[in-house]
Amino acid sequence: MKASRFFVSTLKEAPADAEVASHRLMMRAGMIKKLGTGIYTYMPMGLRVIRKVEAIVREEMNRAGAVELTMPVVQPAEFWQETGRFDKMGPELLRIKDRHDRDFVVQPTSEEVVTDIARQEIRSYKQLPKNFYQIQTKFRDERRPRFGLMRGREFIMKDAYSFDRDLDAAKASYQAMADAYRRIFDRFGLRYRAVAADSGAIGGDLSEEFQVIAATGEDAIVYCPGSDYAANMEKAEALAPAGPRPAAAKALEKTPTPGKSTCAAVAELLGVPLSTTVKSLVLATDILDEAGNPKGSQVWLLLLRGDHDMNEIKVGKVPGLDKGFRFATLAEIDDHFGCKPGYLGPLNLKKPVRLVADREVMVMADWITGANEVDFHMTGVNWGRDLPEPELVADLRNVVAGDASPDGKGVLAIERGIEVGHVFVLGTKYSKDMSATYLDEAGKPQFLEMGCYGIGITRLPAAAIEQNHDERGIIWPDALAPFTVVVCPIGMDRSPEVKVAAEALYEQLLAAGVDVLLDDRGERPGAMFADWELIGVPHRVVISDRGLKEGQLEYQHRRDTAATKVPAAGIAEFIA
Ligand code: ATP
Ligand code: MG
Ligand code: MG
Ligand code: MG
Repeated sequence: MKASRFFVSTLKEAPADAEVASHRLMMRAGMIKKLGTGIYTYMPMGLRVIRKVEAIVREEMNRAGAVELTMPVVQPAEFWQETGRFDKMGPELLRIKDRHDRDFVVQPTSEEVVTDIARQEIRSYKQLPKNFYQIQTKFRDERRPRFGLMRGREFIMKDAYSFDRDLDAAKASYQAMADAYRRIFDRFGLRYRAVAADSGAIGGDLSEEFQVIAATGEDAIVYCPGSDYAANMEKAEALAPAGPRPAAAKALEKTPTPGKSTCAAVAELLGVPLSTTVKSLVLATDILDEAGNPKGSQVWLLLLRGDHDMNEIKVGKVPGLDKGFRFATLAEIDDHFGCKPGYLGPLNLKKPVRLVADREVMVMADWITGANEVDFHMTGVNWGRDLPEPELVADLRNVVAGDASPDGKGVLAIERGIEVGHVFVLGTKYSKDMSATYLDEAGKPQFLEMGCYGIGITRLPAAAIEQNHDERGIIWPDALAPFTVVVCPIGMDRSPEVKVAAEALYEQLLAAGVDVLLDDRGERPGAMFADWELIGVPHRVVISDRGLKEGQLEYQHRRDTAATKVPAAGIAEFIA
C-alpha cells in the first residue's frame, strides 16, 4: 500500500471525552471516528487492525473444528419470545418495529437464531458435535458506553455455539474452544488471564473469561500468585465465606472512627435509611492546597439503590461533617468530580481517587468507609495518597487482597482486567425453551447440550493498546499492526535515487508477502515519523541519500530507542 493512495489522518489532540489511552490513541491515529454515543466508524487504518484480529480468530476457530456462517443482525422477536429473553433482557436489548408494526431485535448475541437452525438441521446423533460461529455486528444499548471501542453499543463479536449429545461431549467442545482462545490470545502477544466466571445454574468450572491485564480494565480479577486459582470478582465473592474478610477487618481496626458508627452517623445526619437494598459508600476527602496541606475536608455519602440505576444516585455533601448538608445534583457531581455520576459506584472508584476540582487536587486522605448490600457490614480503610486503585476497590468488596485463596495455596491478589473473551457451557436451557432435539442411537429424541463462546473483536485492539503504548503512540504487536513495515523515504521528491530505492524495497517486501506501506506523501521526516509512531507500525525503514551513499538503510523497531544501520542489500532478510 502507498500512503498517498491510502487514508492517513492523524490528530494532535484527542477529544475531551477520550479518557483511556486506547480511546485517545485510536482517535488520534485516525482508526475510528465517532458517529454517535458508542457508535463508531472503523476508518481504513482501524479496519486493517480489525481484519487482522478477525483473520487470526477465524484461523483458530476453523482449526478447532468450528464452521462459519453469518446470522442476521435484525432478528424477528418471535425467537426471542420463545426463550423469554424478549421481555427479560431489559433495555440493553434494542427492539425495533417494521412497517407492519412487528417486533424485531438487533442481535446482542445469537443463541435463539442458532438454536433455531440446530432444531431444523440437526436430526441425528451422527451429525454431532457441531460448532457454528460467526464474526458479526452486535448491538447492545449499554448503560455506560465508553472508552471508544472498549465498550461500544455497536461492536463486532465472534460468537460460536456448540451442539453436543451430552454434557461430557459439551465439556469437550468447551475445552476445545478454551484451548483455541489461549492460542488466539497468545498469537496476539497479550498478557491475559483465564478466570473462572459464574456459570449460572450449571455450576462447576464451566465458564471462563479471558481477561487482558490492564489497570484501566473495568473488571476486578482475583488470583493466587502461588497457584492456578483465578476468578472474576463476582465468582470469587460467591465462593467467599460471608462476613467481613480478615484484611477488611484489619483495615477497620485502623480506622480512626469505627466504620459502622461513622457511616450510621452520616446516614442519620442525612436522614437516609440504611437498608439492605441500598449500596452506600461514604467518602471523606481532604482538599489540599498547592503545597499539599489540607485546607478543608468533605464527606460524601453515595447511595446506590436497587439495581444501580445511576440516575438514582444521591450524594449528600457534608462540609466538615456539620449539619448543613444538601443533596448534590447530578450536574454538581459531574462538576465536582469532573466525571459522570456513574463513576461513583463502589465498583469503580477511579475517578474519585484522582479528583481534580477547581484545580485543587482532592485526595482521599483520612478514611473511607463503605458497605455493600450483601450483609451491610462496614469496612474502613486508611486511604493514603499512594494506595493503588485495585486495592481500593477490593477493600470495598467481600474479597480483598491478602485473603487466603480457596485452594489453600497462598493468599489472594487482585488486579484489573478487560474481558476480551468468554466461554460458557449453556446446558439445555435454550434447546429446552426452543425444543431443539436430536435422535440418539435408540431413535429417542434428546435435548441438545449447548455451549457459547464470544470474543470481542473490536474490543481486542483497544485492550492491546492499553498494554502496548508509550507517550508517542501505539506499539502494535506484529500480529495486530495495520501495516507491519513502513518504508519512509527522505526527500523522495528531490532525490531520484531515494525514490528508486524506496520503490524497489517496497516491491521487494510486497513480493515477499510483507504487509508494507510506502510513505510517498512527501511529508517532512519529523511529521512522517510522528505519524507512524502514533499509528504504531512496529518496523520502520528509513531511506535517505546519505545512507544510500554508504549503501545503508536505517531500521528501527517501534520499541527501539535508536535506529540500526543495515546494509541496503540485506534489509529484506533483516526484517523477515
Ligand atoms: P462486559 O462484561 O464487558 O459487559 P459481557 O460479559 O456482557 O461483557 P459477553 O456477553 O460475554 O459480554 O460477550 C462476549 C464478548 O463480547 C465479551 O467478552 C467482550 O469481549 C465483547 N463485548 C461485550 N460487550 C461489548 C461492548 N459493549 N463493546 C465491545 N465488546 C463487547
Ligand atoms: Mg455486558
Ligand atoms: Mg462480563
Ligand atoms: Mg461475558
